[in-house]
Amino acid sequence: RAKADARGNYQLYSSSIDLSAFSSLTLENDLYHALEENQLVLYYQPQVNICTGEIVGAEALIRWQHPELGLLTPDKFIPLAENNGLIIPIGKWVLETACIQNRKWQDLGYPPIQIAVNLSVLQIQQNDFIDTVTHILRASKLNPNDLELEITESIIMKSNIEDLMKLNKLKQLGIKISMDDFGVGYSSLSNLKNLDVHHLKIDRSFLYDIDLNSNNCAIFTAILLLANSLGLNIIPEGIETQNQFDFLKKILSFTSSTLQLKVNTENLHTQNNTQIITENLCAKIQGYLFSPPVPADQFEELLKKRKFEIQ
Ligand code: C2E
Ligand code: MG
Ligand code: MG
Ligand code: MG
Repeated sequence: RAKADARGNYQLYSSSIDLSAFSSLTLENDLYHALEENQLVLYYQPQVNICTGEIVGAEALIRWQHPELGLLTPDKFIPLAENNGLIIPIGKWVLETACIQNRKWQDLGYPPIQIAVNLSVLQIQQNDFIDTVTHILRASKLNPNDLELEITESIIMKSNIEDLMKLNKLKQLGIKISMDDFGVGYSSLSNLKNLDVHHLKIDRSFLYDIDLNSNNCAIFTAILLLANSLGLNIIPEGIETQNQFDFLKKILSFTSSTLQLKVNTENLHTQNNTQIITENLCAKIQGYLFSPPVPADQFEELLKKRKFEIQ
């Protein structure tokens, strides 16, 4: 039996790992040892230039190789870690591991990519948050431009001004800031007004049926226009099929040509063409169509090929 949750994802009751045998207390207890016993792993999902197919980035996504339960996705343990504070050492480990890995790929001669890391609100609230990030960058010798930090609308809702200023400070160092899961949180628009981010990651609940659902198509187009007028770049997330991708490109090129018209009528002497505007609107895209998140060695195989075929 499958049931659609609020985000339109289907979850199978029967085939999912049976966590009921493990009380959450046991799982929580195990989590205390997960770090020191090297059970946490980062998977990497490629982010692809929408026009050229080149791999331009990766999102680091945590997994837990549990000795009895197998590979656990973050929804099984990140909420636990956020409740008991373990997210602080875990989040630090994620940042460190992702930065070191990105540096390593660059040292191996692959073209530089940006590595995106998800943050929890507790991390930002730490007094030494800025120091932690800058220390990790220095220690890994990674260029701040090659690090992207992902925050969600709920993080912004839970943060005070001082915490948000920390993100602006990191931005001044060259670090990119992305708003993750955009469109599903509350008061999205007012949040955007107050925070200076580089990218809006459009939640995949708007994209998984973009070719079939005219409402989601309309919402997506509206977000695109909004992003453009705010000078933001979007990252569509969760593109799974060629149909969705084709449809997405149609919307982008339609929107781009509309915007180009505006640019022309405003008589701006720029060399903009549809492709440049498309890239300004949407530099990268992420989804199973290209690749699911994979372990570092498999990601390196993707880097060797450098790009995906784009039709
Ligand atoms: P997110 O940051 O929005 O990450 C994207 C999620 O969408 C990932 O799930 C990814 O595997 C999935 N995804 C990507 N493309 C597709 C697609 O085409 N189809 C479908 N159905 N799914 C796709 P994942 O890895 O299970 O991560 C879930 C969430 O857990 C993340 O959502 C993020 O909020 C959180 N998370 C992951 N790693 C970390 C971490 O290191 N720290 C923190 N604080 N949270 C993390
Ligand atoms: Mg994310
Ligand atoms: Mg997301
Ligand atoms: Mg999320």
